[in-house]
Amino acid sequence: MEQRLRRQSTAPLPLMSGVTSSMNSPREDSETPALLDEIRALRRERNAVILAHNYQAPAIQDVADYVGDSLGLSQAAAKTDAAVIVMCGVYFMAETAKILCPDQTVLIPDRDAGCSLADSIDVEQLRAWKREHPGALVVAYVNTTAAVKAESDYCVTSGNAEAVVRSLPADREILFLPDMFLGAHVERVTGRKMHVWMGECHVHAGIRPDEIEKRRAANPDADLLIHPECGCTTQMLWARSAGTIESTDSYVLSTEKMLSHARESSKSRFLVATETGMLHRLRTELPEKQFAAADPGAVCRYMKMITPRKLRDALRDLAPQVEVEPEIAKRARVAIDRMLEVPATQPSRE
Ligand code: SF4
Repeated sequence: MEQRLRRQSTAPLPLMSGVTSSMNSPREDSETPALLDEIRALRRERNAVILAHNYQAPAIQDVADYVGDSLGLSQAAAKTDAAVIVMCGVYFMAETAKILCPDQTVLIPDRDAGCSLADSIDVEQLRAWKREHPGALVVAYVNTTAAVKAESDYCVTSGNAEAVVRSLPADREILFLPDMFLGAHVERVTGRKMHVWMGECHVHAGIRPDEIEKRRAANPDADLLIHPECGCTTQMLWARSAGTIESTDSYVLSTEKMLSHARESSKSRFLVATETGMLHRLRTELPEKQFAAADPGAVCRYMKMITPRKLRDALRDLAPQVEVEPEIAKRARVAIDRMLEVPATQPSRE
């Protein structure tokens, strides 16, 4: 693991002290108010709900009915009675919404909005892995395709992975996929040996614990806030439990807890370790505080494929629609329901 971390590319290191004023500047957005009005009108006409992930562009977050992490989005989808659900996120999130809401129309504004972590294992690879370990239990992070979930026993978030693994019988082998950082972290904190798939998220290439420590050293008055959502931050969980990231003045927090921490803190500056889309809400709600990305290069290009124009077109054309084969949906639902049942021991939910 150390070797793997060392060989990753080095992003430029704009220290917070030099970037905070520009980091808190108003969003640059070329979308016209007329386009956003059109989206709102189409939403009413279609009886639609717009769900947006925390990593979406500011304009998408602003026009959405709900903004949250992947677990929160699943829960919001499960609750809505809207005829149309538009998932502004990546494809596996739209699949999960369709599995939970089979009778509603689920749209994703760009069908190519994938996830490099989910794509690091396909169903044939998983079946071959299972054949090598007959009788093993399969624990899949939520960032997986519906077909992979259908072959898994448990679906987990970063928040409940530890609790799920602790609950499994000691005499069963465990196959943990696809995130090697989350797997290594869970192994460390539970002491449970697992077989871990060596998958990772491309955004990892921009988040390096050693560089984050350098930024912290240059900004000793700032707290480090880590949001344990999505594969781009599981490396931070791993580094913190390994001691590579100092735990002093660093906090693993959900979005809501990040907001209350910053609101109540006597500090005025915060480094945020997650995909940069998360900064929008923090800055909007607490304009008097300074938030900077712990790594400004941590941008998920798949999340940013969703644009207001594509969202407008999806609502207008009711396309692209997301479908999941009923048999796959039925089996994946078992693993997803288990994910929704186990309480988080880490704050991965809204
Ligand atoms: S940040 Fe990484 S894990 Fe999250 S959606 Fe993007 S590619 Fe997938």
